[in-house]
Amino acid sequence: MTKDLNNLIRIIPDFPKPGIIFKDITPLIADGQAFSYCCNEIAKFTKDIDYVAGIEARGFIFASAVSVLTGKGFIPIRKSGKLPGQTISKSYELEYGNATLEMHSGLIPNGKKVLVVDDVLATGGTAVGAAQLLLQAELVPTAFAFLLEIPQLGARSRIANALPGLQIHTILAE
Ligand code: AMP
Repeated sequence: MTKDLNNLIRIIPDFPKPGIIFKDITPLIADGQAFSYCCNEIAKFTKDIDYVAGIEARGFIFASAVSVLTGKGFIPIRKSGKLPGQTISKSYELEYGNATLEMHSGLIPNGKKVLVVDDVLATGGTAVGAAQLLLQAELVPTAFAFLLEIPQLGARSRIANALPGLQIHTILAE
């Protein structure tokens, strides 16, 4: 890809609250070539996996596209109260407060390998929560793929401590 994909990430200071430097991916996904490039790059990490999980909401954008590109099934990991069937849930810590992720139980056979996809890796709390939820469902999270990472927030060591051995892939260089 010749164009600098970082130029397609819009920086919005103080959103959604003061002090947060929000990385807005909407210019990148509005560029069909760039969006397609990123999804194809993430698809390269699916060689040894059975399913692609996306974290609500922006993770869905990339994960479902990768699912279509690879023919591997899509698992939505949702915020609490959104899924209609029987669910399992995992609460995790955010920078301020707590959040809960849910997925349907009993749909995917035990032991299947899963790539977990989201747009931005910030503190890593959401990623760890999603992987722990998959483990609770007796699935095997094998790797993460993010469009981009905010390296100063220490997510890599947080993930390594909680889930040793899980690979972390990012598409955009800092
Ligand atoms: P974290 O759990 O801190 O790694 O946060 C990751 C989740 O929050 C991802 O689903 C991101 O979409 C979102 N997120 C956190 N920080 C940012 C940010 N600075 N810009 C855009 N999205 C963010």
